[in-house]
Amino acid sequence: MAVTEDLEFSLEPSTSPVADSERDRLLENPGFGSLFTDHMAMIRYTEGDGWHDARIAKREPIMMDPASSVLHYAQEIFEGMKAYRLADGATALFRPEENAKRFQASARRMAMPELPQKLFLESVEKLVEIDRQWFPSVDGGSLYLRPFMFASEVFLGVRPAKEYLYMVIASPAGGYFKSGASAITIWVSDDYSRAAPGGTGAAKCGGNYAASLIAQAEAIGKDCDQVVFLDAAEHKWVEELGGMNLFFVMDDGTLVTPPLGGTILPGITRESIMTLAREEGLTVVEQPYAMDQWKADAASGKLLETFACGTAAVVTAVGTVRSDDGEFTIGGGGPGQLTEKLRRRLVDIQCGNAPDDHGWVKRLFEA
Ligand SMILES: *Cc1c(COP(=O)(O)O)cnc(C)c1O
Repeated sequence: MAVTEDLEFSLEPSTSPVADSERDRLLENPGFGSLFTDHMAMIRYTEGDGWHDARIAKREPIMMDPASSVLHYAQEIFEGMKAYRLADGATALFRPEENAKRFQASARRMAMPELPQKLFLESVEKLVEIDRQWFPSVDGGSLYLRPFMFASEVFLGVRPAKEYLYMVIASPAGGYFKSGASAITIWVSDDYSRAAPGGTGAAKCGGNYAASLIAQAEAIGKDCDQVVFLDAAEHKWVEELGGMNLFFVMDDGTLVTPPLGGTILPGITRESIMTLAREEGLTVVEQPYAMDQWKADAASGKLLETFACGTAAVVTAVGTVRSDDGEFTIGGGGPGQLTEKLRRRLVDIQCGNAPDDHGWVKRLFEA
């Protein structure tokens, strides 16, 4: 078998890209997740041949057999990352190797083949390069990148598939970075769990999201922005939101976040925030935090701030926590000082406005 790490990507530029004027108009107000660029990346895997047929081609619908395994048993994983325009006009990714590693970890959990990190990185970089005209003109805009992989084998038997399709698509995203963003209200799900011990909570798989949607819908019904999940075993410990990790800022200078342990997604933003917080002199502790404690600490004033973080929304303050038992407010109910400071620190590094001491920013090409 060929050394799959050394696959060459074939380049087939679209012969019908969106016209410049139309693209410029669309990029003035990109929103999130509904506008896409001209191209996509694609690599196939089959059990006998390994990874092959790497391509950058026109973005278009894909043909699928109705018996494709993913449609029945949900063997699917994904990543979420952003390409940024730096202050000097260069284009960069933030810690993309971490996404490549996590994609492999998710694949292992879902009994899927691991895509070599080099191919993951190349697929993303080549797509950003060919679609470099698609950066939003709005302040703080970025190109959201969605690598994903699914079981494409045509087979209804229940076992890990023998064929997979890996793809990357790109979506221009508006500015989450505008300051003065207000705090969100979150709903505590009493009826539903996101992840159980031994389950898939640490893998970035579509199935976790499918399981969380009913709770997210309930949250919206209660006039909340997001749902927060408690642990499945005791329904006592705060875990995370549907797609963001949580942090608690205490009045003694500690920053608490729930420990990874199989039921929480190991966020790259989470890890970056822990590093930056330590540099700010905070004591960062990964320890279980009980729902009752959260409420008590908010009431006593021991808890100053709570924030959620992830690639899409970066850092978002949690102002109010609502449940069937009533609700409580954290701090003044708006974005707290440390939340704002850590968000600023992270965004400044991502956008090249602050020194990148950790080598987190990967420059792809210059202006
Ligand atoms: C992707 C994701 C996060 C955030 O991860 P980042 O690497 O920071 O974007 C948090 N929780 C869940 C459930 C996720 O799927």
